[in-house]
Amino acid sequence: YTQAKALVFSENGEPSDVLKSVLLRSLAAPINPADINTIQGTYGSQPSFTSLIGTPSPSAIPGSEGVFEVVATGDPSSPIRRGDWVIPSAPQFGTWRTHAVASLDEILKINKEGLSATQAATISVNPSTAYRILRAYGPSAGRGAGLGMRPLEIGSGEWFIQNGANSGVGRAAIQLGKLWGLRSINVIRERSSHEATESLRRELVSLGADVVVTETQFLSRGWKDQLAEITNKGREQIGLGMNCVGGKSATAVARSLSDGAAMVSYGGMARQPVALPVGLLIFKDIRFVGFWLSRWNQQDVAGRGHMIDYIVDLIRGGKLKDVPLHELAWNWETDIDTLIGEVQSGLQGFRKGKGIFVF
Ligand code: NDP
Repeated sequence: YTQAKALVFSENGEPSDVLKSVLLRSLAAPINPADINTIQGTYGSQPSFTSLIGTPSPSAIPGSEGVFEVVATGDPSSPIRRGDWVIPSAPQFGTWRTHAVASLDEILKINKEGLSATQAATISVNPSTAYRILRAYGPSAGRGAGLGMRPLEIGSGEWFIQNGANSGVGRAAIQLGKLWGLRSINVIRERSSHEATESLRRELVSLGADVVVTETQFLSRGWKDQLAEITNKGREQIGLGMNCVGGKSATAVARSLSDGAAMVSYGGMARQPVALPVGLLIFKDIRFVGFWLSRWNQQDVAGRGHMIDYIVDLIRGGKLKDVPLHELAWNWETDIDTLIGEVQSGLQGFRKGKGIFVF
């Protein structure tokens, strides 16, 4: 890779002033659901197609998350040095490639001490989403407070409920919730055998899940009574629902919430619309909102930096465990069909681990 160098400029000026980009070598890049939706054209924003990478027709490089090693910097006084690890700060950076040239404002340096490449490559989307939702959304801030909501109170033991609990976001929410003294009710889909379901349940409990229920239990008539038991006959409130799935599961999350609670939809894995019983809106004043990390990142750049540092520290301290990953080596020998196959299967359910390219 030492051959792969380029001098680039993105503005005009004296060469010593404008040749400031850094050359990056990819270390690892996950395949997130959003990346596949972006290729399908169903995501909330689309990268623009360009001719810069020399393809016959204008194209875009997929992949929004990953970690790179800095191979060279154009500027000796650059705060980023050879050997540093960086993650993209720009959305839709295009991480599914072996090398990249970036300007300093497109990347964020992370302290690589004690981190593996796959850990560093999966920090910025899933844990951040769980972090932001748990820290910003929750029940109505009080009677007559209009639309105001408050986050669940740290250390209070307040409940939240989530579906897709074994997803990357779900696992992060379980662990952050536990760390912050919150309690979680977690919905998972049954596995192919009872034993496999129980094993997943134990896994989530070991991460800090207080309650794990299967979707079948959750959608059954008996759930109401079970929930009453969990919440001390409804005396303990469930102030937040996190919806990763949509469809019937989302409706059941909404029905499980206490008066004035918020349901935050951040994913639509079942590809089914969310049906909301009007009574929940009127009589229970449940607030239904959506969450998009890209918007948060844009609106709070400094906050994002602090959050990433916080998450990196947790991982380094062993307090935020790795999600199951399916590593695919990407080197000179890897053929393109293998890469495409890994991406194509990325949205399938019941996966053993999220696909990640390791370079
Ligand atoms: P993962 O790949 O880690 O997990 C996927 C999850 O989806 C698993 O829990 C899986 O459950 C579940 N799932 C898959 N197919 C279905 C289905 N047909 N019906 C119900 N559940 C299904 O995902 P991530 O944690 O990376 O992402 C989860 C969701 O969150 C995605 O929709 C993603 O786009 C979204 N997201 C949104 C963000 C935002 O800013 N709004 C940011 C980050 C993620 P099972 O094992 O049972 O198949």
